[in-house]
Amino acid sequence: MSKIPGHSSHQNITEDTLINTASNITKTIREPLLILDSDLNYVNSNPAFLDVFSLNSTAEFIENWNSKSRDFVALRKAISNNLPTKALEDLPLKLSDSGDSSGNYLVNANYLELEKAQSGLILISFKRGIDSRTQEEKNEHVERFDDIFSQAPAMICLLTGPEHVFEMANDNYYRLIGHRDIIGKTVRQALPDIEGQGFYEMLDNVYQSGEASRGNEMLVTLQDPEQGSKQAYIDFVYQPIKNSQGSVTGIFVHALDVTEKVESRHKLEKSEQELQDLVDAVPAILWISKADGENYYLNKKWFEYTGQTLNDIKNLGWLDAVHPEDRSEVEQSFKTANAEKKEFQANFRLRNKNGDYRWVRDSGSLKFSSEGEYEGMVGTVIDIHEEKLKEQLVNEKEHRIRSIIEEATVATALYTGEEMRISMANDAMIQLWGKDHSVIGTTLHEALPELEGQPFHDLLQQVYSTGKMYWGKEDPASLMIDGKLQTNYFNYTYKALRNESGEIYGILNMAVDVTEMKKSKEKIKESEARFRLMADMMPEKIASTDAAGNFTYFNQGWLEYTGLSSDDLISKGWFDFIHPSDKEEFAEKWNTSHRTGEDFEMEFRFLNNKKKYNWHLSRAEAIADEKGQIQMWIFTATEIQKLKAEEKRKEDFLKMVSHELKTPVTSIKGYVQLLLSLLKRNEGVDNLGIPLQTSLERIDHQIVRLTRLISEMLDLSRIEKNKLELQKERFRLNNLVKETVQDIRYTNTQYKISIQEEVDFEVYGDKDRIGQVLINLVTNAIKYSPNSQEVDIRVYKSGEDQVSVSVKDHGIGISKKNQKKIFKRFYRVDGKNEETYSGFGIGLYLAKEIIKRHNGSIAVKSEKGEGSEFTFTLKIASENN
Ligand code: ADP
Repeated sequence: MSKIPGHSSHQNITEDTLINTASNITKTIREPLLILDSDLNYVNSNPAFLDVFSLNSTAEFIENWNSKSRDFVALRKAISNNLPTKALEDLPLKLSDSGDSSGNYLVNANYLELEKAQSGLILISFKRGIDSRTQEEKNEHVERFDDIFSQAPAMICLLTGPEHVFEMANDNYYRLIGHRDIIGKTVRQALPDIEGQGFYEMLDNVYQSGEASRGNEMLVTLQDPEQGSKQAYIDFVYQPIKNSQGSVTGIFVHALDVTEKVESRHKLEKSEQELQDLVDAVPAILWISKADGENYYLNKKWFEYTGQTLNDIKNLGWLDAVHPEDRSEVEQSFKTANAEKKEFQANFRLRNKNGDYRWVRDSGSLKFSSEGEYEGMVGTVIDIHEEKLKEQLVNEKEHRIRSIIEEATVATALYTGEEMRISMANDAMIQLWGKDHSVIGTTLHEALPELEGQPFHDLLQQVYSTGKMYWGKEDPASLMIDGKLQTNYFNYTYKALRNESGEIYGILNMAVDVTEMKKSKEKIKESEARFRLMADMMPEKIASTDAAGNFTYFNQGWLEYTGLSSDDLISKGWFDFIHPSDKEEFAEKWNTSHRTGEDFEMEFRFLNNKKKYNWHLSRAEAIADEKGQIQMWIFTATEIQKLKAEEKRKEDFLKMVSHELKTPVTSIKGYVQLLLSLLKRNEGVDNLGIPLQTSLERIDHQIVRLTRLISEMLDLSRIEKNKLELQKERFRLNNLVKETVQDIRYTNTQYKISIQEEVDFEVYGDKDRIGQVLINLVTNAIKYSPNSQEVDIRVYKSGEDQVSVSVKDHGIGISKKNQKKIFKRFYRVDGKNEETYSGFGIGLYLAKEIIKRHNGSIAVKSEKGEGSEFTFTLKIASENN
């Protein structure tokens, strides 16, 4: 057993001295050192020694040393053979078991004699083999190095000394730097082109600190003398090489060219960036979500549009930009889609950065890994605002159409599609069809099978394909109502309805039942036809004009008379057929009636188909509507040619009679006058007891009447020939009235004729003729008042320059109908008393003609049974006449 220092109580001074000495030595020596005593027992060692032999502790060494195991056998042998007498010098020792791969050591051992202790210590030092190798061995070593590294995939070189002198470099290294002559040169000399790229400084740092240094994907730019500028990315390690004393002697450089990897990564990064740019440039919003629904990616557009930041979109923060009214629904459906791994789609209003909302469609498709695992969704958000607004408009339009249809009082229905599906129908339409609400949603074919064979389906198809509206007017339609097929008449429309893009999608049908109207129209037509027939059968001529006086109808009587067609007559009118002498009067009278709406009446001559003019009495009456608006005129014309001829004969006869009577009557009057004057001279002697004077006076009175009658008849023919001469003069009208009345009073003593003179004027005219008018009016007043004896005459001012004389009686009066006619020639009011009142019916005619020739007027006011008042009006004589 070796003595363990400090553990033996009986150690002597020698031993203590040895231990102290050994301890001092090991403290000062850095190189691996082992100290033994002369008996080869372990005394001391330093830590470097333990390192060399990879020993954990001195105890481990002592055990190995004493058990003579491992390589210490050779060492022990060499020492015991030589020492203490002979020192060992650079004894090569190979330790196969050593931790160091080289395992070669040079061993030096000396005997240190200690006089005081009379003993000594054996000092053994170990030196790593390299330095101590022979040159040959060294060369061999280098070759081996080359062998190992030259073919290595890495770039390797060895630098020595603080200036980093290239000691060796492998092929790959040369390839990197471009075969330059570098061995023996410093890095700065050999590679001046990497100046400023940080390498020199790193090497210096490693050399000084002894710490390894790494570079990752460092870019090195080299100026290759042959290839010019060259760049490479390298991963490298600068590994300091230390000598046995632990000081750095050089740097082992181990580098890998990662240019390709870096560049392809750069390329990938670039293409990723390009893709990103592209995605960002897409006008739509793109998004990618993870399986849990969280956003993995949202393109730039999203952020630009919403104004959100990356932070905002965390935890489904994108939902904050959804309109509050849409949010919960969108959130729900997105979460459900993720949970159920179903495609996602939602339309909602998305807020833009200005706070405005626009409609968008968000759709996401599912994304699975290559292993089929759900990874989330890829989606887009597109603006559908315009589309949505249009859709809303369409909805509104449809809503409008619906409410129009529902509220319309007219039967209205909407059919959609080519199959004419009843999509809407109001109650009026359903009732018109005789159906109920169950027809809505069915096709027209299904709802109204009875229309088969009627023209409606074809018409609808036509409107659907052409878009042209169809108006049906009073068309019959047979519908099954209350189990019976009933035919009614309708006014209806089929109007094509178009959608936003102008395509026809349906037809709006409106219908009005016009059966009643149609029936009554037919009735009217029938009755019109009947009346026409009646009118055509009448010998009378009947025609009608519109309100403006344009002829619209001539009956058969007219056609036969003129020998013209209805069209000819309607276009020409009848004016050309009127006798030239009657035209002026006709025009005047018709114009007055047309203007005032008063009835028209005139006798005039019409040319017949034999070019002969025949007399007609024509009348026209206006037909007015309820409001009094004239709608048309109906003209009748009755041929009075025979009557006229009779009249003519009467006239001629009267003329002849009056001529013949005039002379005898005049001579009778002369004789009567003579006899009366003789009687007066004889003082009224009644010779034979006969009332001679009274009789003569009566005869004279009758002769006056007869004379007047004869002169009236003569006047009549003068008027006919337009030969009535007037002896005009200024005279006092009042005087004429008084004188005339006085004369009449003589012969009509039982009558009370009063005169009321309100004014007193002169007139200019034929005094006798006007007297004649007055006589006529007063004698008529007497004649037609059998039960009254009062006649009231009034002279009054009736206008600015007019004076009137009225003669009022309380007699039988004249009906309205006859008032116009009594001023006509020979007109006498018919009646049972006809015989009572003698006369010719020419007095008023003459009166009218005389007054007319004085530019005056004559009129009658009367009520049947109430008496009459005749008034004539004349112009007051002016200064000049
Ligand atoms: P005449 O008296 O000779 O018949 P007139 O021309 O004087 O003819 O009158 C025409 C008609 O007018 C008469 O026949 C008579 O019917 C009606 N007539 C005229 N004056 C009166 C009157 N004052 N009252 C009622 N009827 C009258």
